[in-house]
Amino acid sequence: MATHLLRLGHACDHACRYCTVADDPDPELSREEALARVDAVPKGEGLTITGGEPTLHPDLLEIVRRAKERGLFPVDLQTHGAHLSEASSVDRLHEAGLDIALVSVPSHDPAVYRELTGKDDLAKVLTGIDTLLAAGIETNIDHVITARTYRSLPDFVDFIGKRFPRVNRILLGMVRPNGACAQHPELVPRLVELELFLYDALDRLRNRHAYYEVEGVPLCYLQGYEHHNAETQRALDAPVSYAGGKRRRDIHGFVHSRLKRKAAVCERCLLDPLCVGMWVEYAQLNGTNELFPVFTPPDRVRERMERYYQRWREEHRRHRSR
Ligand code: SF4
Repeated sequence: MATHLLRLGHACDHACRYCTVADDPDPELSREEALARVDAVPKGEGLTITGGEPTLHPDLLEIVRRAKERGLFPVDLQTHGAHLSEASSVDRLHEAGLDIALVSVPSHDPAVYRELTGKDDLAKVLTGIDTLLAAGIETNIDHVITARTYRSLPDFVDFIGKRFPRVNRILLGMVRPNGACAQHPELVPRLVELELFLYDALDRLRNRHAYYEVEGVPLCYLQGYEHHNAETQRALDAPVSYAGGKRRRDIHGFVHSRLKRKAAVCERCLLDPLCVGMWVEYAQLNGTNELFPVFTPPDRVRERMERYYQRWREEHRRHRSR
C-alpha cells in the first residue's frame, strides 16, 4: 500500500530533545500548497499528515476532509496529542475523515515526559488518547526509546496495555542521534544495554497479541522478532514518498541507502539482505562493534513478516468497509 507523507511545517509547541524534524528544511505549508499536495496523491493510496505539530495548522480539518473526498486511505495523523483532549475537536477530525492517529508518548512518567518534551502535558496526552478512542479513530502509540526510558520499557508497554486496551498498535523507535538529539548524545542508549529490556517488552507485547513494531534496531537485536522490524517491512513493501511538491523521492529507500550503516561482519550474516543496519549517527557515536552476524534463514523472516502484515492489512480493509 503506497503512502505519501505530507509535512505541514515545523511549528510545534513542544521542544522534544530527540526531535529529528529540526534537520528538515521544508517550509510551513500554506492552505493552498497543502491542498495541492493532497490533490496530487493518487486515489486509494495513503496519506500521513505530520509536522512539527499538525494539530496547530489552522487548515488541518479542511486538509483531512479533502484527502477523504479524494478517496485516500488511510488518512493518518502523527501528533503529540496534547490538543486532542476536547471531544468536540476530535469529533470534527473524525467527521472530516481521519482514520488513524499516531500519538507520541515518550514516557508514562510525568517528570520524565516533562524532561524530554519541555512540557507538562502527559495528562492531556493521555486524555487525548481516550478521546480519540471514544470517537472511533484507530489510535496507535509511538514511543521513542531513549537512555532515560529504556529501563522502563517493559513497564511502559504494561502501562499502555492496561490503560488503553483498545490501542491497536505500538511503535517502539530507537532515538536517532541527529536533529535536536545531536546536542544530547547522552540520550542515546547502547544497543547492548537496551537488549534485555527490549526483549522483555517484546515478550510482554507478544503475550498480549497487540500489533507492535520496532524501528532503528538492527535485526541482530531482534532475534525471534525480526518480522516486527518496521524498516525491513518498508524495504520489502510499497515505498513512501512526499505528497506532491518537488520531492517525490522514495523516502525509505533514501533513508536505507544513505542514512544507515552496517559493518564488515554483516557480510557473514544471513539476514544481511533483509536488514537495514544502524543509524549512521549511531555508528559515528558508538562504532559498529555491537553488530554480530546471525544465522536465521531469511525466508523464515519473510514468511512471518508477510503473515503479520497480511493480518494488519486485512484489519484495515475491514475498518475501511465499516
Ligand atoms: S550483523 Fe549486520 S546485517 Fe546482520 S542483523 Fe546485524 S546489522 Fe543486520
